[in-house]
Amino acid sequence: MLITEPQAPARSSAGTDALQIDHFINGAAVASARRFDKRSPLDGRLLARVAEATRDQVDSAVRAARAALRGPWGTLTVAQRVDLLYAVADGINRRFDDFLAAEVADTGKPMSLARHVDIPRGAANFKVFADVVKNVPTEFFEMSTPDGLGAINYALRRPVGVVGVICPWNLPLLLMTWKVGPALACGNTVVVKPSEETPQTATLLGEVMNAAGVPAGVYNVVHGFGPGSAGEFLTSHPGVNAITFTGETRTGEVIMKAAASGARPVSLEMGGKNAAVVFEDCDFDAAIEGTLRSCFANCGQVCLGTERVYVQRPIFDRFVQALKRGAEAMQLGRPEDPATAMGPLISQEHRDKVLSYYRKAAELGATVVTGGGVPAMPGELAAGAWVQPTLWTGLGDDSAIAREEIFGPCALLMPFDTEEEVLRRVNDNEYGLATAVWTRDLQRAHRVAAAIEVGIAWVNSWFLRDLRTPFGGAKQSGIGREGGVHSLEFYTELKNVCIKL
Ligand code: NAD
Repeated sequence: MLITEPQAPARSSAGTDALQIDHFINGAAVASARRFDKRSPLDGRLLARVAEATRDQVDSAVRAARAALRGPWGTLTVAQRVDLLYAVADGINRRFDDFLAAEVADTGKPMSLARHVDIPRGAANFKVFADVVKNVPTEFFEMSTPDGLGAINYALRRPVGVVGVICPWNLPLLLMTWKVGPALACGNTVVVKPSEETPQTATLLGEVMNAAGVPAGVYNVVHGFGPGSAGEFLTSHPGVNAITFTGETRTGEVIMKAAASGARPVSLEMGGKNAAVVFEDCDFDAAIEGTLRSCFANCGQVCLGTERVYVQRPIFDRFVQALKRGAEAMQLGRPEDPATAMGPLISQEHRDKVLSYYRKAAELGATVVTGGGVPAMPGELAAGAWVQPTLWTGLGDDSAIAREEIFGPCALLMPFDTEEEVLRRVNDNEYGLATAVWTRDLQRAHRVAAAIEVGIAWVNSWFLRDLRTPFGGAKQSGIGREGGVHSLEFYTELKNVCIKL
């Protein structure tokens, strides 16, 4: 067991039993002398004491990953690797309830959400990329030569080696396996650094890897923080051949600098300030339902979520009122309550950041349509990281509320008049991750989707994902694309073989 009950159950200051969470290195649990606290976002109770990796422990994880690459893992056929990845996916599904409980404990998100999105997608990420590597051909070219005999060229895909995987806390298992799935499918080995806020499911996955028969050293997990801790030790380690990261843009910049040493490739999935664009000819109810989800799902902590809503003037007031009614109908509560639509934010620290924007909006003179503060929660929940779902009007595109990523359950609604105007305003932002366009006009849908500077444009939907499609951000939202064959571009090295006939 990697997530272990302590021998004599330790009592936290809140009076609850805490788990001990260890690293997973070379197929085994590894403890650290130093540990940090993981607290529940619901009520602040101590959930776990998590091992914090030293530089030497990160080094041993990278060495284990290197040895596995040269050892049994490196000698498997594609078919054998594919079978193992299917076994990992089945292993996650077999322990579905354990993953569900761990993810919900770490994040406080509603169980209904984790049951339908986080855990199934965590398993699917292994099958999808197993299928991709099985089915994607490489290229072949015949060429003529002066002697008339010619030559042929064909490409081979080879793993890049040891991949460092740095993950955020908002969709922990889903986003981690989105990288580990293709990395392993392509024959690499990985060292994962989960967010310090969400250590559990990455650790549980180690048990699944062992049970599935994945060789030791292929999948490693080291826990800790970013600067001066496991994150920095991993990204600066010369034995790591490539780094894939999801998180804030500022962190991505630091990681890119670390990767410059040794000229190592990076894949960066970063922040956003996503706009929804609602035209007056939209299906009104569908636009309200979709915008409620894109603003408030996962308590607004989705990189693809909407924080700017541009609504065409003739329907602006009606739209604001309908969105307000929807936001106010959302029940905040415990994850296991089926009526719960929204949980808390991930931590008190993140709540401080979100509330600082709630205050800033008020200072700037925003009209608070709904929310804007901290809800009164009953009993022990009062100690959790709760905030109210919040909507503002009355601020312009230049305000910090319209420009900076808040990553909370909030959005600024702004009216617009013409298509040309809204395109200019939506694109006037340093981020470019995703958008949702709501219109019944097919020509306009194609035109607007093509013109908005983002990696992902949804029309009349949001968060509808086919895992074979390219995923990533434009501008400061990312570098590179993952998903389907695009993941192969990052996780493999293409080699051309030229044979003179
Ligand atoms: P974060 O950048 O604070 O942390 C992400 C990870 O990086 C954590 O594991 C952290 O410990 C590590 N880290 C921090 N500093 C580091 C350093 N100097 N060196 C190495 N590692 C370091 O992000 P977060 O708060 O966990 O996640 C929220 C952010 O992630 C938001 O900006 C959100 O938009 C973004 N996000 C983007 C996508 C996407 O696909 N584009 C998906 C989810 C989240």
